[in-house]
Amino acid sequence: MIRLEQLGFYINQSLCTGCKACSVACKDKNDLNTGLNFRRVYTYEEGTFIQHPNKGIVHNIKAFYFSIACNHCTNPKCLPNCPTGAIVKNKETGVVRIEQDICQGVQRCVKACPYGAPQYNQKVFKSNKCDFCIDLQAKGEDLVCVSTCPMRAIEFGPVEELRRKYGSVSQIKGMPSNAITNPNIVITPHKDAKLSSS
Ligand code: SF4
Ligand code: SF4
Repeated sequence: MIRLEQLGFYINQSLCTGCKACSVACKDKNDLNTGLNFRRVYTYEEGTFIQHPNKGIVHNIKAFYFSIACNHCTNPKCLPNCPTGAIVKNKETGVVRIEQDICQGVQRCVKACPYGAPQYNQKVFKSNKCDFCIDLQAKGEDLVCVSTCPMRAIEFGPVEELRRKYGSVSQIKGMPSNAITNPNIVITPHKDAKLSSS
């Protein structure tokens, strides 16, 4: 019997400086054109400032960065929405891939994914996304985002192991509900990114 050991990402958001090295390294490895990013780094800002008559400028601004790729979800919305059967979830690792020789660029996955993971490439008329660097993993190497991050803010591995080490937070402020796809991501949130329930 094949044993599923679902892989996932761990993001220590409290360490992330928003440098985007992870995103650029991923782009470089996957030879992506301008505008296509399998890993994206978002900036979240909220709050305001006032000109106080005695204290000068007083602000209550909160800001943080968040790096995210495909979450290789347990219930991937991209997969059942693909009319050509190009999206497959590996039975052993849980990694979700878009088979490039089958994809016909219909882009239903692009619309179905709540995380914006699949990206449509207008040059080849196909969609693609993070494949968990399976080629590097086969050589015993780390994923390129993991090895590039200067803050060591990204890890990967069996998601249950990551949850045992780092907890079960998989949603922060600004993210879609984790109930939609059951994403395989574990997050140590930035102090301003925590949901009241996390
Ligand atoms: S993050 Fe999006 S593209 Fe990746 S498996 Fe989940 S639904 Fe599919
Ligand atoms: S490389 Fe690391 S620190 Fe830089 S944006 Fe990505 S996760 Fe954040």
